[in-house]
Amino acid sequence: MRCTPHEVSNKACLSLETGDIQETSMKTVLVVESEPSVRSRLMPWLNERGWRVLDAPDRQRALALAREHLPDLILCDWPSVCDHGTGFCHGLEALSDLAGPRPVIVATGVADGAERYNALECGVDEYLPKPFNYHLLDQFLARVAGSGKGQPGFKPGPGGGQGRGTRLKFWGVRGSVPAPGGDTVHYGGNTACVEVRVNDVIIVLDAGTGLRRLGLSLMREFGDRPIHLNLLITHTHWDHIQGFPFFLPAYNPKNIISIYGYEGASQGLHDTLCSQMESPYFPISMRQLPGNINIRELKEMDFDVCGVPVKAHFLNHPGICTGYRLFTPDGSISFLPDVELFQRLRDRWTAETNAVPAQERQSAPEEDRSLVDFIRGSDILMLDAQYDAAEYERHVGWGHSCVEDSVAFALHAGVKRLYLFHHDPDHTDEQISRMVARARQMAASRHSDLVVEAAREGSEVLLTAPKSALP
Ligand SMILES: [Zn+2]
Ligand SMILES: [Zn+2]
Repeated sequence: MRCTPHEVSNKACLSLETGDIQETSMKTVLVVESEPSVRSRLMPWLNERGWRVLDAPDRQRALALAREHLPDLILCDWPSVCDHGTGFCHGLEALSDLAGPRPVIVATGVADGAERYNALECGVDEYLPKPFNYHLLDQFLARVAGSGKGQPGFKPGPGGGQGRGTRLKFWGVRGSVPAPGGDTVHYGGNTACVEVRVNDVIIVLDAGTGLRRLGLSLMREFGDRPIHLNLLITHTHWDHIQGFPFFLPAYNPKNIISIYGYEGASQGLHDTLCSQMESPYFPISMRQLPGNINIRELKEMDFDVCGVPVKAHFLNHPGICTGYRLFTPDGSISFLPDVELFQRLRDRWTAETNAVPAQERQSAPEEDRSLVDFIRGSDILMLDAQYDAAEYERHVGWGHSCVEDSVAFALHAGVKRLYLFHHDPDHTDEQISRMVARARQMAASRHSDLVVEAAREGSEVLLTAPKSALP
């Protein structure tokens, strides 16, 4: 393998030329950055963390180096490549057709939600705002280094993830109220909305403000073809329905939108959804929408959405609120965005004991045991983790949980992958990352295989293997 002094940093180059054993263990990062002051700080920082660094000042040089060295990760300044962003990512995709898995691509740029979306739409796996939060960057690189390419939870890339299997995409992960801004750009500021694709069936979980972007994406994807979409509403608080009036597919008569949910807090689901669009709140009423919109108020707790079995469970949250569990051929997905767990299990479950005695489990309140049974063995659980333990003490009875209780619950129920959801609007990216670290620490102290992530707007998960039985 050849290396040129200006393209591969000295420390890494030395290990390559001397045939050092690090050559096989070091991961390679390609830095595409036109600003010398950023490069001069970033490259030694990466070196110190054991990365072999390739240096490219522009897009053309980056593609050439990528072809030659097949890096594990590309850290690219988005403005340097964005004029040709799609071409840049497609160039890497074509490269992976020849040479194996495509590198993980991380775009860096201004803290701007629109630019972040543009990058993600072009096939970038991650977007990090500048100036760098080196703490966040460190955490991210540790994950890449630890898990290797193609780790679960990363977007498969342009044109990827379009095959069979079940895909999940987060369009809104925030709770209570949208929280746009520079300090929320990593995890996102839109409220609850998750898209699930089970083969050709589209199921959307909640209609928070993230639904607007999903609508634009569906319009681009389907073009003139009709869209048939199934929207499951957990409850009718604003952060779960306010995206619907801005959902463009509802404005086209070729589309069919089936809405499922349970009775609203004080009136039927139909009236509650319609009333947010009545004058003077909104200029167009639900009746005037040209799309075929069918609102189905559910009475049963087991039902079927276009062949996908679904179970529902009422949750401890002000008013009527439901959690859903989808049983797909590729695994089960549970969605409990707003819930205050009844029993504070944290103290018992985080104790350095190996197991909670059976009699203690039996003594848990009926509601808790019922909910644990409901989510037991889920491949994916999206669960309310709005607060940390100290914040929760000031919000008891508000209908939300703290991360410590949520992790305890997931561990108790044998969940495989937990996504912390319904992020507090006042929590910055850094605070949420600290909560994730705390959650992982809890899982590790229990010697559990539970994977914990914070739900992040724009990220996708691909479920490909059957892991749990149908009900
Ligand atoms: Zn909510
Ligand atoms: Zn709520």
